[in-house]
Amino acid sequence: MAQKQIPYKIYLEEQEMPAYWYNVRADMKKKPAPLLDPATGKPITAEALEKVFCRELVKQELDDTTRYIPIPQDILDFYKMYRPAPLIRAYCLEKKLGTPAKIYYKFEGNNTSGSHKLNSAIAQAYYAKEQGLKGVTTETGAGQWGTALSMACSYFGLDCRVYMVKCSYEQKPFRREVMRTYGAQVTPSPSETTAIGRQILAEHPGTTGSLGCAISEAVEAAGSMEGYRYVLGSVLSQVMLHQSVIGMETLAALDKYGEKADIIIGCAGGGSNLGGLIAPFMGQKLRGEADYQFIAVEPSSCPSLTRGKYVYDYCDTGRVCPLAKMYTLGSGFIPAPSHAGGLRYHGMSSVLSELYDEGLMEARSVKQTEVFEAAEYFARIEGILPAPESSHAIKVAMDEAIKCRETGEEKTIVFGLTGTGYFDMMSYEKFHDGKMTDYVPSDEEIAAGMAKLPKID
Ligand SMILES: *Cc1c(COP(=O)(O)O)cnc(C)c1O
Repeated sequence: MAQKQIPYKIYLEEQEMPAYWYNVRADMKKKPAPLLDPATGKPITAEALEKVFCRELVKQELDDTTRYIPIPQDILDFYKMYRPAPLIRAYCLEKKLGTPAKIYYKFEGNNTSGSHKLNSAIAQAYYAKEQGLKGVTTETGAGQWGTALSMACSYFGLDCRVYMVKCSYEQKPFRREVMRTYGAQVTPSPSETTAIGRQILAEHPGTTGSLGCAISEAVEAAGSMEGYRYVLGSVLSQVMLHQSVIGMETLAALDKYGEKADIIIGCAGGGSNLGGLIAPFMGQKLRGEADYQFIAVEPSSCPSLTRGKYVYDYCDTGRVCPLAKMYTLGSGFIPAPSHAGGLRYHGMSSVLSELYDEGLMEARSVKQTEVFEAAEYFARIEGILPAPESSHAIKVAMDEAIKCRETGEEKTIVFGLTGTGYFDMMSYEKFHDGKMTDYVPSDEEIAAGMAKLPKID
């Protein structure tokens, strides 16, 4: 038994739910590159960031030295409604695959928003409320973040304005209605309600939008209303910090089972669930206490880690946000309307980008139809109907388990099952009807996105 391998004093009495978030940047020898001010090209100051983001969240964003950050009691109380999230051994899947590997998955779909995004939404809404703000604006791609944020805002009595990427707005009307049920105002993006939206519409008539466009609109909207700030559901280091609850719980649950993971796998859009899942394990690796194989899985239609460049880039199409050094396809890259809406961002968390660049993490890209094959296989065997995003991780976890069948290795595989797919049945329908295609951007398309990168070394 590998009991007491972890510092339980940073957990609540239940010994599985953490009382602290873990900040992996504190253990990184080479820190992620700082955010730059788009106006000056210099590292951005807290003061400049506070015009866009909530004060306490800015502090967390810029903190790369504090290892453990206490989770405020109000947030813990909310977490207790749906956490700890279960770490489930996929016995049936193991049996069906005939693998000697043990497969565990951390299931984050057990809340109404249906994904891990609520972990950060509630934290961000809390800090906005604490600062005395009236409301927040945001973008949402597939709709999970918008849903999570509307739930969090209604809990704290904050106004919530969501810019929803147009193709999702049209594909997922029920998501929109869930958000409105929780009191949010939802606008399809690009829209006529902002200057940047009007400009994007003029340049790309008929565009189905992108996260990058929606971010620019949400930032502009926050800046133009008194008592509002902008919040973001992924990519930022603060979001990854909040999502470390996933990894902290997984570490404790594995410890209770007397297990040690060999491979940890997660899907990667902006990197928050993967970053949160692997954070404490990566911490052990960075401190030389244990070793793990980490695998980020991205869609081949939006391959920022596997085909992007590690450079400074704009975080949004309208270039109003700070610049981040990250693996990116260029902020002008508008991905094909893939069904893994939550993985359509052109860039990647700068923390994960740095870890990947140092060779501490691997990345793979997978095609849409093979992802849905894995999703359906998993649903039939393990019962849970997974989100398309999460199914990227399922696909690679199954690949690794099949490898173990061939080599006879008894590895322990852990993957993040980030959410449920009930609002993605249109994509399942396309898959079942044989109408799903595998879009892979050409080298020319990738190069076109890169051509608009800012010139910064
Ligand atoms: C948003 C989302 C993702 C991707 O976002 P990350 O920040 O990379 O974690 C993955 N799965 C689900 C279910 C999502 O909603």
